[in-house]
Amino acid sequence: MENKRVLLISFYNNKAMGVRCLEKALQTAGYEVFIIFFKNFNSMKPKMCTDKELSYLTDLIGVIEPSIIGLSVMSTFYLEAVLKVNSYIKDNYDIPVVWGGVYPSLFPEDCLKFSDYVVVGEGEHTIIELAKAIRDKKRVQAIKNLGYHTKDDVKINDVRALNEDPDEFGPPILGGDNKFAVDHDKVSFGDPQLNSTSYELAATKGCPFACSYCSSVNLRRLYKGKGKYIRYRSVSSVINELIDAKIKMKNLRYIRFWDEIFSDDEKWIREFCESYVKYINLPFEIWCHPLKVKKNVIQRLTQAGLHKVVMGIQSGSERILKDIFHRYEHTQDILKACNIFNECKVPEVVYDFILMNPFETEADLIETFELVRKIPRPFELQIHGLNFLPGTDIVQIALERNVVDYDKLNKIMFGTMEEQYSHYWGADQKNPKQNFWLSLIHLSQFNGLSTIADYLSVRSYRTIVTKVAALLYKVSRKLARIRHLYKKAGMLASSTIHQTVTGRRQRVQLKKAFTNYMQ
Ligand code: SF4
Repeated sequence: MENKRVLLISFYNNKAMGVRCLEKALQTAGYEVFIIFFKNFNSMKPKMCTDKELSYLTDLIGVIEPSIIGLSVMSTFYLEAVLKVNSYIKDNYDIPVVWGGVYPSLFPEDCLKFSDYVVVGEGEHTIIELAKAIRDKKRVQAIKNLGYHTKDDVKINDVRALNEDPDEFGPPILGGDNKFAVDHDKVSFGDPQLNSTSYELAATKGCPFACSYCSSVNLRRLYKGKGKYIRYRSVSSVINELIDAKIKMKNLRYIRFWDEIFSDDEKWIREFCESYVKYINLPFEIWCHPLKVKKNVIQRLTQAGLHKVVMGIQSGSERILKDIFHRYEHTQDILKACNIFNECKVPEVVYDFILMNPFETEADLIETFELVRKIPRPFELQIHGLNFLPGTDIVQIALERNVVDYDKLNKIMFGTMEEQYSHYWGADQKNPKQNFWLSLIHLSQFNGLSTIADYLSVRSYRTIVTKVAALLYKVSRKLARIRHLYKKAGMLASSTIHQTVTGRRQRVQLKKAFTNYMQ
């Protein structure tokens, strides 16, 4: 009997949007798909998988008996775990393994040292064709986007033209008894996403920007001349995905759009807001870029339930922004965007900064402090270090400018998960002047503390001043944590009350709307 079972494994990510899209594509093509969510996300205290978890995984594979196993390798953060799983599979089974995700797309040859195949770029059609070739015992040489072994080498095929219709396979599948989660030394059956209070999705594909520390631009380069890179899903597809989530997730209280940059297309936004209010009506979160913030768009979104905006500012130094990060907005663009969020009264605004990096001088940090002091409150700061992701442009910049040597860079990029996260949070930076300005920047998000930060910023640099700043920094970090939890609890409580009042009646209407869509 032909084996049409495909197993997909995601790492440290129960949401796994990309894996769920592959599931949908394979299922549409007639395959029986299983997903194992191998360990869940934890950016603060990530833990390596245990032998027990690996043995559960191996047992599950034995029960499923797939004809092919796909490993989702998003970045090198989890490479250590991916390699362990890969070798467990190889030691115990004779099943072809294919790697897909950002890292295999940028380094297919390196990944083929461990896997049988790699998928480069967008993988829906490739995984279908590969599964078919394996099932029918056919050759794989003609499959686009595929990397494979030849007799004495490896071959990476060209990528196909971009699929212009991001709705081709429809929304991903939520729920189902084909899903398992392995974490904390146990296995749970069913889709772990169903118990969550939040649902994540993306309404667009691709990002128009080219930040040097991000792999988005490298992926775009793979597709040069292969069609339109930024693609918007239709509003009806997005809303129907959310209706499905609302029906199936009884605890759903919050929606997160994980588009790299949320759409600023006014026609799309108008249509989206109308449907969102009518069918979904839950608080939601988006990511923005300073050059893509329009007042009428933010106003509309806020009226439709926009609860939180996360915007990357990264630095207040135009030198760092332009020369190092390849971000071409000016500080006045940043402030303009911040003022728009403030005027539109977006309930929660978070600004992301990449500080404590080896390119930064004290003057750059002072410029960042000065910029932050001009941002209208309330806002939250999310400050982290610079993570060097393999293949990103900033790696080359660091080598050319001799700010980090090759060995250290490799250690950062391919260190253990704990080492990489510690670098990401900037924990291994010890420069006292950097720490001083970092403290003042952090204090600036709080009403009372920002005045003290101003006072300290004009004092001459002495031990006592730095000690006070360091002490207040500790306090402000705790305050930031409490504020975050308080706001989250408040949002969940008000969303729960709202859902309790309108929930049952609306669920009946939603089922009707969803059934109509499916017909
Ligand atoms: S805006 Fe965000 S997603 Fe786009 S390139 Fe920059 S960091 Fe990457």
